[in-house]
Amino acid sequence: MQASNDLSLGKSSFQWQNLSWRFRSTSATERALQYQAGQKISGFTVKEVVTVPDLFLTAVKLTHDNTGAQYLHAARDDKNNLFSVQLRTTPMDNTGVPHILEHTVLCGSEKYPCRDPFFKMLNRSLSTFMNAFTASDFTMYPFSTQNGKDFQNLLSVYLDAVFFPCLRELDFWQEGWRLENENPTDPTSPLVFKGVVFNEMKGAFSDNERVYAQHLQNKLYPDHTYGVVSGGEPLAIPDLSWEQLKHFHATHYHPSNARFFTYGDLPLEQHLKQIQEEALSKFERTEPDTAVPNQPHWDRPREDHVTCSPDAMAPDAAKQNTLCMSYLITDTFEGFTLSLLSSLMISGPNSPFYKTLIEPKIGTNFSSVVGTKEASFSIGLQGMAEEDTEKVKQIIVQTIDEIIANGFEEERIEALLHKIEIQMKHQSTSFGLSLASYIASCWNHDGDPVQLLKISDSVAQFRQALKDNPRFLQEKVLHYFKDNTHRLTLSMSPDEAYLEKQVKAEEEKLQKKVQALSESDKKDIYEKGLELLSVQSKIQDASCLPALKVSDIEPTIAVTPVEMGTAGGVPVQYCEQPTNGMVYFRAMCSLNTLPEDLKLYVPLFCSSVIMKSNVYLYASITQFAIRKSIVHSQSDSQGVLLSSSCLERNLPDMFHLWSDIFNSPHFDDEERLRVLVMMSAQELANGISYSGHMYAMTRAARSLTPTGELQETFGGMEQVKFMKRIAEMPDLTQVLRTLPRIKRHILNPLNMRCAVNSTPQKMSDAAGQLDNFMSNVASNKKDRKPVPPGSGPSRKLITVRTASTFKLDLCPNFKPCQMKTFFPMPFPINFVSECIRTVPFTHEDYASLNILSRVMTAKYLHREIREKGGAYGGGARVGGGLFTFYSYRDPNSVQTLSTFRKSVDWVRSGQFTQQDIDEAKLSVFSAVDSPVAPSNKGMGRFLSGITDELKQAHRERLFAVTDKSLVDVAGRYLGIGQRTCGVAILGPENDTIKKDPSWVVK
Ligand SMILES: [Zn+2]
Repeated sequence: MQASNDLSLGKSSFQWQNLSWRFRSTSATERALQYQAGQKISGFTVKEVVTVPDLFLTAVKLTHDNTGAQYLHAARDDKNNLFSVQLRTTPMDNTGVPHILEHTVLCGSEKYPCRDPFFKMLNRSLSTFMNAFTASDFTMYPFSTQNGKDFQNLLSVYLDAVFFPCLRELDFWQEGWRLENENPTDPTSPLVFKGVVFNEMKGAFSDNERVYAQHLQNKLYPDHTYGVVSGGEPLAIPDLSWEQLKHFHATHYHPSNARFFTYGDLPLEQHLKQIQEEALSKFERTEPDTAVPNQPHWDRPREDHVTCSPDAMAPDAAKQNTLCMSYLITDTFEGFTLSLLSSLMISGPNSPFYKTLIEPKIGTNFSSVVGTKEASFSIGLQGMAEEDTEKVKQIIVQTIDEIIANGFEEERIEALLHKIEIQMKHQSTSFGLSLASYIASCWNHDGDPVQLLKISDSVAQFRQALKDNPRFLQEKVLHYFKDNTHRLTLSMSPDEAYLEKQVKAEEEKLQKKVQALSESDKKDIYEKGLELLSVQSKIQDASCLPALKVSDIEPTIAVTPVEMGTAGGVPVQYCEQPTNGMVYFRAMCSLNTLPEDLKLYVPLFCSSVIMKSNVYLYASITQFAIRKSIVHSQSDSQGVLLSSSCLERNLPDMFHLWSDIFNSPHFDDEERLRVLVMMSAQELANGISYSGHMYAMTRAARSLTPTGELQETFGGMEQVKFMKRIAEMPDLTQVLRTLPRIKRHILNPLNMRCAVNSTPQKMSDAAGQLDNFMSNVASNKKDRKPVPPGSGPSRKLITVRTASTFKLDLCPNFKPCQMKTFFPMPFPINFVSECIRTVPFTHEDYASLNILSRVMTAKYLHREIREKGGAYGGGARVGGGLFTFYSYRDPNSVQTLSTFRKSVDWVRSGQFTQQDIDEAKLSVFSAVDSPVAPSNKGMGRFLSGITDELKQAHRERLFAVTDKSLVDVAGRYLGIGQRTCGVAILGPENDTIKKDPSWVVK
């Protein structure tokens, strides 16, 4: 697992967008306030106790006396407790040593020597999150859970993994790299490179955005750890030795180089005691030599050029160049201002760079802020023509000059500060994780993490600075951009021979390694390969690991009460929640009346509806989203979801804006539409190498259910190709004419139902405003449903209507059929999927199929596809009336399809235990019971008609699943010829498939 370089602004810089708090008593935060600086607890000393009222938490900073390990606890009344330990890992070469180490420590430890305890714990716990990340300069191990016993179990496994891993040679071969016979049981088959990280990074480097971001960082900070690839350059990975890996662990994974973070409502003392006893007491202080020096500042700007593989999906084949100007921001000026500045300069249609670079259609946007010790700021373009290079450079310089001369409009600054206010109020369910990632980079370089959390202080300081000096921002731009000589201009262009060169380089590297081998080395490799295979195939004893029991799971769900009513004749679901002063509005607009030929246009319609010149005004009042959404229910099978949220005080304005969109949508601006089309097409093309498994699954499901067909139309390869086609059209008037036709079907109260989540105090007001809105947009009064007498906004308690079955075939004309599709792709790994038509959520067999998918993933597919096959991941899942197999970044293609089939035989032969079933149940329940934010309560019922009663019935069926029912459903649904299935593969040219006429090659 590797943290991807986040290219979009606002993700890496504004991490607090996911922050939230709970509307409950403040007992945990009050308890934490009783700690005092100087107090000793379990080998730690309290350094500082700070309240952070913005985020409703109390922060306690501590240091471990013996080792100097740093500790931060954020006490908050949130049950979803989080732990994270982060180590400063600063590699000085491209072998990917921190990344391979991150994988290898999770392969077994002193106390938990069984293979792969990390993956096994996924099935023995109710964790809400478990993962590990390698960033440029730190490695982080976080988990979260709502269960106290589970927290202790996971903490024990994590501490042992990080500080006392086995780091066996076999683990290194499996996770890092190895030479092995292509077929390990055949000593005459050729030797090839294998290894999980080796393949993962080959996959990662087939993503051009990733390639570019990596070069940009390496070349902007060339002189220390940021000059190398922490995840591993594929061809440098085979230079790493097992000894080097162990040495890196000894020097970096030490408490003196560690930062511990805990979050939530569990008591701090218990955490400290366990961490002291199980880990820290066994260490003495060292002086870790891991500090990163500042990058020496250049005295003149530099230019550089790199190449990438051509993109077959590029919306315009002649426009595949990327160019960026990147600035190193050396001075320690607060990240808050830099983040604001970058949003002001780049984000949204009213930003200066949007106007000078995107609107003239020179290319699509590209910008980044990276997580390094010293900040950097990048602005540039992708999807541009080579001949525009000089022009783009000039425009960037000119635009910066204009900003220095003219500054920013006050409304935009206000809109941005308002957005921060909304983000602080909005409650997500992963607050602890957001906090951990928000503070990680700064804390890693000894910045004060508590200072970062005081967001209101930053806003106030910013306002003051602007008041004292109205040219504050302009002066920053002058200093950090115009006068900055540490500037890199990096361009990237496609090279037709890129892939070929890569293949050749790998082949040369391989030959060099192979030629150096003696006959006895080769024999050794063959035997090691067999040994690995036999270890991987052995039945594993995981009994050393702690586990929750099925009896630890709550037998019943907590009920979410909703009220049903109407507003202007439209059905409305009201759900009262502690939303912290926010109001959430949704409308589901049915697609049932939409003509077939318009469906491909729906995603474009959704993004163009709010395409107006004053879009930033919207941001100052509300947050909008219009999404294509596909649901299963009796009343409507397919729809578009409109959603928006606002602070309570802006409620009338929010509905006013919706009225505006409904009554006078602007479908006349061809220029704006073209920009939108170019950006969407580019985004879709970029996503394939990262989410290839999603595209494969969507395609495989296409011919099986009406929903699957629509998913493909809206978000599959069909949509990717459609947008590419539109992007290539010289004239968009035809498309513009289509949009109002779609509007008549979608933005139509006759086809709508709505939902509101707000505090109880605000609900009546919200209902009244919604009623007004509906009256305003009623397109044709005589078409309206008769409004019952005495109505106005009405609310009554719902009378429960339990749907017994949902049908898979809502469209009577839909005929499921078998289909195998192959998409040749310019990357070296495959994404493979097979879908089988089964039953929907409400069917009595669904629970067994659900548990079955987990058993197969954990006990068979993971081993065969990842460990033996060398793919980054693979598994099975259920949903949408389908049973779906998939693999991710997979060196194999058709072989993986037969692995899917073999997994069915494996289940039917009954080679699993009661323990396996219990583990699968825990893993299913940890998903079923994952926390739901107040803004999303009641959404299952609203979107899909899944009521609490249906959920409870499903829950009881999950508890009741037995080995017999698993074997039974495997035979009945997954056996060959039992049900219609579809297959899709995205991957490099494939001779086996080409020769096989049963495949459709796209
Ligand atoms: Zn990884």
